[in-house]
Amino acid sequence: MAKESPLDGIFESYLKGPAIFKNRDVLRPTYVPDNLPHREEQIKRVGVILAATLKGGTPSNIFCYGKTGTGKTAVVKYVLKHLTEKIVEMGVEAPAVSYVNCGIVDTNYRVLAQLSRSLGLDIPFTGLPTDEVYNRFLEALDKKPRLMIIVLDEIDMLVKKSGDSVLYDLTRINTHLKNSKVSLIGISNDLKFKEYLDPRVLSSLGEEEIVFSPYTANELRDILRERAKMGFNDGVLEEGVINLCAALAAREHGDARRALDLLRVAGELAEREGASKVTERHVREAKQRIEADVITDTLKSLPLQAKLVLYAIFTLFKFKGDNVLTGDVYNVYSDLCKILNVDQLTQRRVSDLINELDMLGIVNARVISQGRYGRTKKIKLAVPRKVISQTLDEDYRLQGLSDYVPNIQ
Ligand code: ADP
Ligand code: MG
Repeated sequence: MAKESPLDGIFESYLKGPAIFKNRDVLRPTYVPDNLPHREEQIKRVGVILAATLKGGTPSNIFCYGKTGTGKTAVVKYVLKHLTEKIVEMGVEAPAVSYVNCGIVDTNYRVLAQLSRSLGLDIPFTGLPTDEVYNRFLEALDKKPRLMIIVLDEIDMLVKKSGDSVLYDLTRINTHLKNSKVSLIGISNDLKFKEYLDPRVLSSLGEEEIVFSPYTANELRDILRERAKMGFNDGVLEEGVINLCAALAAREHGDARRALDLLRVAGELAEREGASKVTERHVREAKQRIEADVITDTLKSLPLQAKLVLYAIFTLFKFKGDNVLTGDVYNVYSDLCKILNVDQLTQRRVSDLINELDMLGIVNARVISQGRYGRTKKIKLAVPRKVISQTLDEDYRLQGLSDYVPNIQ
């Protein structure tokens, strides 16, 4: 007889339990549905511009922007898919299409390397000067006449991390090409992104600007209904579940990704419980779970200096209780920098970092007047201490701080 395993019960009850999902994958953010309700206008605009390709023309550059989860990536992928199908149907030569997610491929070198590889070039992961990669790309592209459509998704991430030199090169590449042409589609989640751009880059990239506004609760409901029909078995969603997901995500800047995540995670929680229906309680639990994950991700991705400021605030809470003032934070922060041998920022910069932590929802900083001593800020932690200590403890760079005790009068 086979040995018993702690998994036996789990697999058995999973198999016997009621099936919640018909197809879980259609609820994941990477899935692009065949129908995108409430984005007809944006689809048409991208479509009209790219239609130039069908008669051998070069489409204008396009710049799409809007908050996360407003359907930018889905719309662009949708139009490119249908364009390619049409071109294949017509039997003419298809443009080379290259999609780069600059949230992942986030240096100028790597963007050019990926574009070059999409033309069949063999580019090492590091080692060449960036200019050299650019020249090789240019040469390969110009070997025979063709159109290349380049999608730079999450382009704000690339520019924030590595500057706009690649964008600058790509927006002027057509003046260096003799035979071929490039059309760019830039997508940004950051509405203020335009302010960081060199005006010359902006005027070229933004030949056509398309804005994606947040979805309303009603629009999210339509999106969720369509997806739920494909993703869930009939009758497993209790009345009100879709409305609640839509309402919660509408409050969260009209984010369709968040709405779909809520629905999928609620389904997973119901499935794990062996429940036969997904209820509003599952949605509320899903919300808590997703929010906790977002906080952890935000904390993990803070730069070292911001983590030190947070560490200082956290330490003061631990030893002093909830009367934490900006000046105390700066003193403790300075100690921490000395212990770790890290450059110390000015009080002004630390105050900016406290504001940033406030904007991220990690702390609450309130201005209070101290009479003739002027104004200062009183700071509170806005997320559970345990979450903060766990994340900070995981960062090996902060390990030298575990014995630190602040000197408090
Ligand atoms: P963005 O690129 O603006 O951050 P996405 O295009 O990635 O947003 O959309 C996030 C998620 O929501 C994806 O799963 C996408 O398929 C879905 N989605 C967005 N808009 C719609 C829509 N109008 N209809 C159906 N699904 C949508
Ligand atoms: Mg996107």
